[in-house]
Amino acid sequence: MTITLPSSTPVQSGRIRVLKKGSDHLVGPVVYWMFRDQRLKDNWALIHAVDQANKANVPIAIAFNLFDQFLGAKARQLGFMLRGLEKLCGEIEETLRVPFFLFQGEAVETIPKFLRESGASLLVTDFSPLRQVRSWKEDICKRVSDSVSIHEVDAHNIVPLWVASDKLEYGARTIRGKITKLLPQYLIDFPTLGPPNENWVGSTPSVDWENLISDVVSKGAEVPEIGWCEPGEHAALEALKGTTNGFLTTRLKNYSSDRNNPLKPKGLSGLSPYLHFGQIAAQRCAFEANKVRKVFPQAVDSFLEELIVRRELADNFCFYQPKYDSIEGAWEWARKTLMDHTSDKREHIYTKEQLEKAQTADPLWNASQLEMVHYGKMHGFMRMYWAKKILEWTAGPIEALAISIYLNDKYELDGRDPSGYVGCMWSICGIHDQGWKERPVFGKIRYMNYAGCKRKFDVDGYIAYVKRLVGDIKKRKGEDLLNEKAKELRGQ
Ligand SMILES: Cc1cc2nc3c(=O)[nH]c(=O)nc-3n(C[C@H](O)[C@H](O)[C@H](O)COP(=O)(O)OP(=O)(O)OC[C@H]3O[C@@H](n4cnc5c(N)ncnc54)[C@H](O)[C@@H]3O)c2cc1C
Repeated sequence: MTITLPSSTPVQSGRIRVLKKGSDHLVGPVVYWMFRDQRLKDNWALIHAVDQANKANVPIAIAFNLFDQFLGAKARQLGFMLRGLEKLCGEIEETLRVPFFLFQGEAVETIPKFLRESGASLLVTDFSPLRQVRSWKEDICKRVSDSVSIHEVDAHNIVPLWVASDKLEYGARTIRGKITKLLPQYLIDFPTLGPPNENWVGSTPSVDWENLISDVVSKGAEVPEIGWCEPGEHAALEALKGTTNGFLTTRLKNYSSDRNNPLKPKGLSGLSPYLHFGQIAAQRCAFEANKVRKVFPQAVDSFLEELIVRRELADNFCFYQPKYDSIEGAWEWARKTLMDHTSDKREHIYTKEQLEKAQTADPLWNASQLEMVHYGKMHGFMRMYWAKKILEWTAGPIEALAISIYLNDKYELDGRDPSGYVGCMWSICGIHDQGWKERPVFGKIRYMNYAGCKRKFDVDGYIAYVKRLVGDIKKRKGEDLLNEKAKELRGQ
C-alpha cells in the first residue's frame, strides 16, 4: 500500500509504504527504527522521519536493535557493523541532535516497548526484502497500539522496489528497461538534513560501545574481524570518491576490462560491505558515477549495470520469491534439470567440513575459499566458479545450495545479503540465467571449469596472490596476539 503525501514532502511518495495506519494526527514522537540503512546522510527513511516529525512539531529518536542472533553473523560482520554504528551514533547526536537508542534482544519486543514508553505516534522503518525482517514488521504491526502508524521507506534501492516492478522478474533483461525508465525520476540528489524542530525530552541513552563491541567480537571470534576495510559512512565515501584510493577518482578507468580478473581486486569498487550495511547509499554511488560518465562512459555503464540492475534485481527476487534461498525458488526448467541429474556420478564428493577447510583437489577453488575465510571478500568472478564447483562436488543441488549459503553468510563481510542469496541461486539453480547445453551433474545449468578460468586470467598468479594475502594476515594476527600478551604482562 502506498500513500500520497503532501507535495511539499522531500521524499517521493512511491518510496513509502504504509504498513499500518494509525491516527491521522501525530501527537507523540516519531521513531525511526534503523535496520538496513545505517547512515546519516542520503537516507530517505531518516529524511522522511524528520520531515514527519517537523510537520507535526514532535521530536524524533532513532532506534537500533542488536539481535542476539541474525543469520549467523560473527565477529567479522558484527564488529564492522557496530564500529560503523558507534561513529554514526556520535554524528547523529552531534549534527542532528537526535538521540540514538540501542536495544539488544528481539526487535518484536524492544521496538513496541520503546514506542509504548515514549508515547510515539509514528514508526518509520527502512526496507529489506528478507523474510525474517518482513515477519518482524508484521509482528510489530500487531503489537503496537491502534493509534500508531508504521511507514516503511525503501532507502536502499534507487528505484523503490515496488515501483520498479510489481512481480517476480525473470532476469536482468526483463527488469532493466523498467528501472532505466524510472531513473530520471528517482536518481536525484538528496536534500541536506538539518536538526529537527523539536528536541527530544526525557532521558537520552548512552551506549558503552567499547564493552559491547568487545563482548560481541569475543562471542563471534570463530570468524575474526578484518583490518582492510574501515567501517563507517566517511570511510565509505572515501572508498567511493576519496583522493587517495577512491573508486571513481582513481580506479574506475579500467573497471569494464579488469572487473573479471581476480588478480586485480582493486579493479572492483570494493563497495559491497558498505552497501550491505547501508553505510553508503547506492543512489549516492550512482549519482557520483554519472558525474564522470562523459570521461569513462564504458566503465560507468558497466558499474551501473551491477550497482543498479543486478543489485535491485536481487532485491526483486527475494521480495517476490518467498523461497529465495531454496531450490524450490528456482524456475521449473532448472528444478527439473537439476533433479534429472541428481544421481549422476560425481568425480569428487566433499563434505561441508572439507569444503570449509579448503581441502579439495582443486588449488584454484581452495584459493578462493581461503580468500573468503581469511580476507572476508572473495573476488566477484571467483564467487561464480566457487559456487558452481560446490554443485559439482556435493551429493545434490539441495546440499550444494545449503553449503554455499552457509559459507557465504559465515565468511563474507558482505554476506547475508539478497545479492548473496541470488548469487548462490544463480550459480546453482540458474535463476536470472538461461538453459545451456546439457551435461552431467549440471544438466542445463551454466557450467564453469578450471580450463575456462585459465583462458581468462593467470590462475597460478591468483593462487600465489591468495597465498601471500593469507600469509600476511596470519603474520599480522600473530603479531597482534604477541602485542596483546605483552600488554597483559605489563598490566595494561
Ligand atoms: C555465489 C555468489 C555469492 C555472492 N554473494 C554476495 C554477497 O553475499 N553480498 C553481495 O553484496 N554480493 C554478493 N555477490 C555478488 C557480487 O559478487 C558482489 O556484489 C561483488 O563481488 C562485490 O564486490 P564489489 O562491490 O567490489 O563489486 P563491484 O563490481 O564493484 O560492484 C558494485 C556493486 O554492484 C553490486 N553487484 C555487483 N555484482 C553483483 C551481482 N552479481 N549481483 C548483485 N549485485 C551485484 C554490488 O552491490 C556491488 O557492491 C555474490 C555473487 C555470487 C556469484
